[in-house]
Amino acid sequence: RMVLPERACRVMYALDAAGYEAWAVGGFVRDALLGRPCSDVDIACSASWQETKRVCELAGMRAHETGTQHGTVTIVCDDEAFEVTTFRSDGRYKDARHPDAVTFVQTIEEDLARRDFTMNALAYRPDRGVLDPFGGQADMEHGVIRAVGDPYARFSEDALRILRACRFSSELGFSIEPATYQGMLANKGLLSHISAERVTHELERLLLGVHAGDALLGCVDALAAVLPELVAMKGFEQHTPYHIYDVLRHTARVIDGVPRYPLVRWAALFHDMGKPACFFFDENGTGHFYGHAAVSVPIARGIMQRLTFSGAFMDKVLTLVLRHDDVVPAQPKPVKRMLARLGGDTELFAALCDLKRGDARGQSPVYSEGRIELADGLQRTLDDIIAANEAFTVKSLAISGRDVMRLGVPQGPLVGSVLNEVLEAVIDEQVPNSADDLVKFVEALIGEEKFQK
Ligand code: ATP
Ligand code: MG
Repeated sequence: RMVLPERACRVMYALDAAGYEAWAVGGFVRDALLGRPCSDVDIACSASWQETKRVCELAGMRAHETGTQHGTVTIVCDDEAFEVTTFRSDGRYKDARHPDAVTFVQTIEEDLARRDFTMNALAYRPDRGVLDPFGGQADMEHGVIRAVGDPYARFSEDALRILRACRFSSELGFSIEPATYQGMLANKGLLSHISAERVTHELERLLLGVHAGDALLGCVDALAAVLPELVAMKGFEQHTPYHIYDVLRHTARVIDGVPRYPLVRWAALFHDMGKPACFFFDENGTGHFYGHAAVSVPIARGIMQRLTFSGAFMDKVLTLVLRHDDVVPAQPKPVKRMLARLGGDTELFAALCDLKRGDARGQSPVYSEGRIELADGLQRTLDDIIAANEAFTVKSLAISGRDVMRLGVPQGPLVGSVLNEVLEAVIDEQVPNSADDLVKFVEALIGEEKFQK
């Protein structure tokens, strides 16, 4: 049932042949048993890192000292890398993988006891099968995430495990065992000691999970320590058929069998955060929202500044949040106008289509009527525009800023305004995108009063 990659076997056999005991551990064993695409093979071994290095080098492999202070060397066998770590038990953790002090131990069982969840405390050797001292396989069959040992103690040792539990719940669709969840809630305040980079990394993996909406909703009280803004959305669900949790259920985009779509997923998380503040009842008692997209933007910006994002990525997410509700008919002109507004970024436009589609799917049929088809139509219109190589950026115009200056416009911001007017006219099909026509158009334009100083 379990097939170890051939190179991992070679590393393990080399160590075994030298009299040590090597096991495949962690995510590989878990994912193989679940029939999921397998993550890297991590190896736990009775040898010290110096012994592992010596044995593997003698077997013709390369060894890199990537984490010797906690007993890890990376062994490269035919270009494939494996982390080999000496059996150890950990003291307190400073960050996720790197405990402040490690104690090396004699047996694989003691090594498994330091691991976070029962499904991650599994080991495998071809000759001995699966070693499962904490009932990880039974928990996986029931779809349950359970801490190894005393949950309170385990989360107080390392608060990042709280986010790992939420992330695994999203990736696997598993529920968190009640005592484990209590341990998470009791220690969530410790998440303030975890670096923003690690928090962001786990949150992103959570958002990319196939079950992100359910995991966010199920874990909202634990996640409140890093995303307090989610709590208002949860309470708000009762008042409205709109909500981010459902949208997250519907914006999964699967590429190579793996959902990898951070941009749309972050935007989906943020897009309606302004709604609780923008909700009002009219005189007939009907609920409405006013301008919530614009109100969501500063909330999203605040969260992204607290977490760690590149400025460019943040700008894209905020643009999607701001534009997600803009009315764009699936026709060439309005699509090109929106493309121009997005700086000609066709990927960002495609992301907007996906967000609109997910937003529509996440609503009750009364509200989603026609909007899913509209999002599909927008995507098709975009594809046609790209295929026909039509102009929707200043760059794609048949004249340049230099041409505009040659026609008498002085260097400076005016050149950009002229080019933007030209682009609008081309998009509106008032003038064809050819050099001759555009020169004539610019000459007429600079004759107009508003371009005279
Ligand atoms: P994936 O690779 O899909 O993220 P994984 O379970 O392999 O899943 P890693 O971060 O690669 O996760 O860690 C490998 C193993 O190390 C885990 O399966 C777990 O046994 C152990 N581990 C990792 N992080 C922690 C932690 N914070 N506390 C306890 N054990 C941990
Ligand atoms: Mg792993």
